Amino acid sequence: MTRNISRLIEQMTIEEKAGMCSGLDFWYLKGVERLGIPSIMVTDGPHGLRKQAEDADHLGLSNSVPATCFPSAVGLASSWDRDLVNKVGVALGEEAQAEKVGVLLGPGANIKRSPLCGRNFEYFSEDPYLSSEMAASHIKGVQSQGVGTSLKHFAANNQEHRRMSTNAVVDERTLREIYLASFEQVVKKAEPWTVMCSYNKVNGEFAAESKNLLTDILRDEWGFNGFVVSDWGAVNERVDGLKAGLELEMPASKGIGENKILSAIESGELTEESLDQAVERLLRIIFMAVDNQKENASYDKQDHHQLAKQVASEGMVLLKNDEEILPLSTDNHVAVIGALAKQPRYQGGGSSHINPTYLDDIYEEIERSVSSKANIAYAQGYHLESDHIDKKLIEEAKQTALEADKAILFIGLPDRYESEGYDRTHLNIPENQRQLMEEVAQVQPNVIVVLSNGAPIEIPWLDKVKAILEGYLGGQALGGAIADILFGKVNPSGKLAETFPVKLSDNPSYLNFPGDGDTVEYKEGIYVGYRYYDAKEIEPLFPFGYGLSYTNFEYSNLSISDKEIQDSETLTVSLTVTNTGEVFGKEVVQLYVQDVESNISRPEKELKQFEKVALQPRESKEVTFRLDKRAFAYYNVDLKDWHVETGDFDILIGKSSREIVLKETVKVISTVSVYTTIHRNTTVGDIMQNPTIAPLAKKLLKEANKNNPLMNVEDDHNESNEMMEAMMMYMPLRALANFSGGTFTEKMLKDMIDQLNKKQQEALS
Ligand code: BGC
Repeated sequence: MTRNISRLIEQMTIEEKAGMCSGLDFWYLKGVERLGIPSIMVTDGPHGLRKQAEDADHLGLSNSVPATCFPSAVGLASSWDRDLVNKVGVALGEEAQAEKVGVLLGPGANIKRSPLCGRNFEYFSEDPYLSSEMAASHIKGVQSQGVGTSLKHFAANNQEHRRMSTNAVVDERTLREIYLASFEQVVKKAEPWTVMCSYNKVNGEFAAESKNLLTDILRDEWGFNGFVVSDWGAVNERVDGLKAGLELEMPASKGIGENKILSAIESGELTEESLDQAVERLLRIIFMAVDNQKENASYDKQDHHQLAKQVASEGMVLLKNDEEILPLSTDNHVAVIGALAKQPRYQGGGSSHINPTYLDDIYEEIERSVSSKANIAYAQGYHLESDHIDKKLIEEAKQTALEADKAILFIGLPDRYESEGYDRTHLNIPENQRQLMEEVAQVQPNVIVVLSNGAPIEIPWLDKVKAILEGYLGGQALGGAIADILFGKVNPSGKLAETFPVKLSDNPSYLNFPGDGDTVEYKEGIYVGYRYYDAKEIEPLFPFGYGLSYTNFEYSNLSISDKEIQDSETLTVSLTVTNTGEVFGKEVVQLYVQDVESNISRPEKELKQFEKVALQPRESKEVTFRLDKRAFAYYNVDLKDWHVETGDFDILIGKSSREIVLKETVKVISTVSVYTTIHRNTTVGDIMQNPTIAPLAKKLLKEANKNNPLMNVEDDHNESNEMMEAMMMYMPLRALANFSGGTFTEKMLKDMIDQLNKKQQEALS
């Protein structure tokens, strides 16, 4: 339906307009009945709908209507499957339609800076490219159903510790290349209807009051066209927020926010036009939600449960499989050990907490998967509610394990260990589970561990077990998914979207997490996740991109469309992947780019493309990727833009970030001349690096004084010339005058500078 929004705004009173900028209650936006403006509902969350009927809260405490609980973002991301994540989005959109929800509050695209962040399970990855691809697929899915999303939490909200007051101090390049990049491509590719600003400050300013973030970058640069909503309770000064580009305050402040807006208009601090603009943005989305609402919408709970199962099994990661102990034979006598097998941890705590439509019992799913010859026994092993070591339970478990051929041990992190609202302080599993694991492994050589956790743990006991399946927080259908993988009905294909360090102190943010008082400095800069482990040559326990399969894949025929391209052109990369094993499987082909030689500090490699490929035994498929300028660029803070340094780049194809199997090299030529004004303190080295002026500079230096060795930048490369050149590199131009014994005058220096600047200008025009 076409509506005249400007006309509606003209008809609204100023009180009505200010009122629209704050919610009606916890989950509803305000409407204006007399003008036919409806009140729409927004609700959590990223991997399922948390629609509360009454007793609203933002910490997942009170109950909500049943909805499908899909695996949380960490599991979705480990599938590395855009189509599958899109399907989850579609399903979430259907459920939102059925429950008359206009906007779903998610997904979260924050980067996993530290494995300790309590909310990592709700975020996709430590890598901005993977994270943004997953978030974009999710959003496209939800929005295809006529339901909006709220991309959150913008920006640099990478910890729960003091999340409402902490100030994330992040340098501009890091912000752009890591933390904002994870949002940028999502906004550009998927056009979320809304963006949720975060609680924290970024470089001294509340995200909720940052014009730089909410308007200059988000809207003006990236083209965001919806409205910005505050995280629940993130508003500090309402008027400053509105001025910065925060259209909606949530939850309702019941008059406080709107009165502040009204006073600011009265005093002239805020113009009515800026209020109108905010209302216009709100109304556009409100009507989009209403106009797309489907009458009598419903969804098939069973279908969605099946989808949740498929996603869960594709997102689980096989970390270890010695002697190919997995898949298990369905005739085995197996001991199922651990409380988590009967009280599964399938989702995280906090605002994303779902009331599931069904919930798989892992133990029953295992029982269902085995043949009548098999014998399954269960032992609890530990209490989930405390870390207390119960010797009797351990003894029972040992006995059960002893009598079986193999033991499947269910361990991981209880809710009290990781949740929204607080961070972990260590990466250990509870002591009672560790003790159980050690003792069971002493009596049973065939131990298979299934982990339930939302983020990495330390695994010092790695050698004591034969297999580890990282089940993450697998959603309501995790039981079926785990059983399918254990017994080989599904071949695992998940790959880690985050690095598992050997120990916490290996992590790049270790010394600066969660910060001192209300300040957290991101001192590791762009070296987040694998970028750091690579650069420091620290062996991770399991690297980014890693995951095993029941089959093998071979890579061949890597080819690139050109050996040399300009940065305005696209490079096509293709290769062949073959399933050389005996069973069907899926492989995630990963493409990383490495800047071979660079004048600025750059990571060893960065993920720039990936594709999940399904292959029958002996089948081969060609995979094709396209790389544009961004694949080779870094963020140049002087240019305030992405820039490619002319030179060679390696195209690396990997099974993981640490297992590169194919390599090609392309030369990329920058089409942007970096104009840097030459002045008396510009170094000779910097001038010689600038291809536009280097030849002229050489000529001028020679002419200036043929007899002065300092001025002689010769092409003749004998040893003393090379030494001289090396020393001159860091010499500012004025030093040439200082050392010329008066032969290179100030006037000559000025003329040289003028000529070099003129040459640059000519080249640019
Ligand atoms: C969370 C958001 C959530 C909101 C509403 C906040 O505490 O940070 O992610 O969408 O509550 O529940």
